[in-house]
Amino acid sequence: MRFMYIVVFLMISLVTMPIEAKSFARSDISFSSDEMVRGDVILINIKAGDGETPRITWMKKDVSLVLNPARSLWQGFLAADLNSKPGRYQVLVEMPSSDVKEQFDIQVNDMDYGVRNLTLPKEKVELDAESLKRVKEETAVISALWSAQKPIPAWKGNFLMPVDGEIAGTFGKRSVINNLERSPHSGLDQKGETGELVRAINNGKVALVADHFFTGNSMFVDHGGGIISMYFHLDKILVKEGDTVDKGQTIGLVGATGRVTGPHLHWGVRVNGARVNPLTLIDLSRGLEE
Ligand SMILES: [Zn+2]
Repeated sequence: MRFMYIVVFLMISLVTMPIEAKSFARSDISFSSDEMVRGDVILINIKAGDGETPRITWMKKDVSLVLNPARSLWQGFLAADLNSKPGRYQVLVEMPSSDVKEQFDIQVNDMDYGVRNLTLPKEKVELDAESLKRVKEETAVISALWSAQKPIPAWKGNFLMPVDGEIAGTFGKRSVINNLERSPHSGLDQKGETGELVRAINNGKVALVADHFFTGNSMFVDHGGGIISMYFHLDKILVKEGDTVDKGQTIGLVGATGRVTGPHLHWGVRVNGARVNPLTLIDLSRGLEE
């Protein structure tokens, strides 16, 4: 008799018990590393159902995440700009549906990327008033791209190299041009012949096509979620602003436009406005599923 009571009680409990959401634990959050150097990115992984959309705050900005539904895994990149001050920075992970807040420390270290010495024609370095005005206007147009509202991620899976050429200029080097300290090298130079095909490194939308003083024929592709890639000194640009591009699609041709010493592709990536080493992004994205 007593046994029956228990069975009935259990049956009623099962019917009336609210279905609990899967509780979220700190151990559901992991990072590819808990330290990085300035100009680097790390990957954040969060195990949560697609009913839960985690919110990440890093260096005072929201970080967009991409959901891998098969594995109930949210993934995204935390970036430290090339000029970030070394130190400990906090990542805040919030699960709005369960009121969970977890904080983690990430160490950003200094890095010696080396120096490059360049000799260029005087008029390409010491700008006259007209060129200076042009460069200022161009800088403002580009800055607006970094601060624009970031659309939903269009990028998926791994990022590609835009060309196959040998790396001729690495990321992050201090630049000494005609014996004067200039902005550091915020992208990657790859060798290439004029006319060689340039591929989009991931899916996205063409955000800007322009002919700029330093970077010549320039193109910016917005991959969504705060990731923007750029391709400079192009001979020709084969897409228009607003065009949607697929990963691997030919978007331009290698050239020698702008301030260059010869044909090559300079390309770079910004993640949430931060200038980061494109090779790190490519390496870290290798394991991401489509
Ligand atoms: Zn370059």
